Amino acid sequence: MFDSITGSIKNAVNKIRHKDDVASLKKAIVELKKSLLKADVHHKTTKELITAIELETKRVGIGQDSFINALKLELTKVLTTEGNQGFVYSNTPPTTILMTGLQGSGKTTTTGKLANYLKQRNKKVLVAAGDLQRLAAVEQLKQIAAQVEVDIYFDDNQTDPIAIAKAAQEKAIKEHYDVLLVDTAGRLAIDEELMTQLKNVRDAIKVDEIFYVADSLTGHDATKTASSFKEQIGIDGVILSKYDGDTKGGVALSIASQVGVPLRFIGIGEKMPDLEVFIPDRIVSRLLG
Ligand code: GDP
Repeated sequence: MFDSITGSIKNAVNKIRHKDDVASLKKAIVELKKSLLKADVHHKTTKELITAIELETKRVGIGQDSFINALKLELTKVLTTEGNQGFVYSNTPPTTILMTGLQGSGKTTTTGKLANYLKQRNKKVLVAAGDLQRLAAVEQLKQIAAQVEVDIYFDDNQTDPIAIAKAAQEKAIKEHYDVLLVDTAGRLAIDEELMTQLKNVRDAIKVDEIFYVADSLTGHDATKTASSFKEQIGIDGVILSKYDGDTKGGVALSIASQVGVPLRFIGIGEKMPDLEVFIPDRIVSRLLG
């Protein structure tokens, strides 16, 4: 998954030759900095990380093992934010989630994956086809809902996403659903119309959380767009899609440290079961190979 970063971190570790060799630690740190930046880790995060790793390695005593342990410790610290807890159920069901993201990020697929995840936990799930922007999105969600065997609310004659969201929530309340996942319009880039529409949907129904689906393959852009969504509509969690792809891995570190919103799940493939709760330790093990 992260062959390039894993390989270059190993190169950094190998720079340390002897115990208590300060010069070799410096070389390792320089190498590590290069590999983090190459893996799309934000420059501020990189700086904070290498400073902390150097200090911690020196504190314990310079050596390859202490360097690796410091790496694990500091990477885990960055990835661990309050709220890395997967799905949170509201005390007043239906727990309602707005699924947001840019077009192509994997938002509709992720809505299906999340529905599947919840269904497997014996929850009664309704998905709402509120992405009226992309022509095929409603059809795609119908197919996905049928595939994972959850109910879907759609209205082929409706052009107003607010009306869809309201009607879906009414149905979910009346028919005692545990969870309502509302798919929303994606755009190719952030624009004011999209944000206004999202705000209107958010304000028209009871929303417990807003999830932002970020495409890992877009690197630094994923961090930037997640920040914009946070500022403009207030997101509660990020789901990193396509983490299985040819990703450099650093995007999780950048989002955790620069956006300040907990990572909740990761998408690790195109199929419906390919969704995992985001667990910092697991990501660190993958990064370090
Ligand atoms: P939307 O426009 O944001 O709703 O995007 P889609 O849900 O249609 O997804 C766009 C493409 O990304 C599709 O081909 C999905 O199969 C693919 N995709 C979504 N999530 C993942 C993932 O975690 N891994 C991989 N490899 N592909 C994904």
